[in-house]
Amino acid sequence: MEQSGSDTCPICLSPILQESYLDLCFHKFCYNCILQWAKFVSSRHSPQQPFLKCPLCKRKSTSIIYEYDGNSFQQHLINQNSETSNFFTKAHKYRLQCYYVESGNSISNINITRYWKSSKYRQPNQWLYSWVSREIQALLQEKDVDIIVHHILGVIDSWRRNEPKGCKISPELKQEEFKRIVADAAKPFLRGRTDRFVNELEVFVASALNIEAYDKVYVNHLGWKIPEINDEDHEEPEERDPLIPLLSFSDEDIDETV
Ligand SMILES: [Zn+2]
Ligand SMILES: [Zn+2]
Repeated sequence: MEQSGSDTCPICLSPILQESYLDLCFHKFCYNCILQWAKFVSSRHSPQQPFLKCPLCKRKSTSIIYEYDGNSFQQHLINQNSETSNFFTKAHKYRLQCYYVESGNSISNINITRYWKSSKYRQPNQWLYSWVSREIQALLQEKDVDIIVHHILGVIDSWRRNEPKGCKISPELKQEEFKRIVADAAKPFLRGRTDRFVNELEVFVASALNIEAYDKVYVNHLGWKIPEINDEDHEEPEERDPLIPLLSFSDEDIDETV
């Protein structure tokens, strides 16, 4: 195949739309063209192969990279769909979309400053494991993220345990340090999405909400429905969700001795 202009899709021979790459050879295609190609190829193979041979160089890639913006990207795994649909729920999809819009700090009235002034941050959050798992699964579109989750939670735990007793560190410094260690732990996996993930994690722990309630805050604010949450069968009247006011801390949460 000749080396055509780098912005021409080798499949449709038109200017590339939604540039995407195969993960091994980095040959460029329109996202839809290569996706259709992958579908076509896999329809001719049974059982399906978890890779795609590049139509140009025949090297085997396991994913299509798209929406690369210099920082972050999306990844479509070849023939992982059946497995993907098992774990990739509507809530995963919803969360992935959330990472493209406003951050949690701007949609809720969670008072993060007060969280760091309180002693709450020293207490383990029982929902954190499930929340981090889901977020990482959503961001990476991968099911098996346990190693990453354990790594991140381990770093948070040891940071919490190793806090020097009676040491007067300002809440701002604590916050900064927390975000730095979480970012360091997550960066090798989340890359361009790291900072945003760290912000979301901070909002999640500061909110003291469980996952369902946290999701509801987003649904209420952004207005997109997650079917699991806004179940059509028992649809409530257009009332605002009463969970929202719980996002502010009550005063007894604040430990002023810190
Ligand atoms: Zn094309
Ligand atoms: Zn190639």
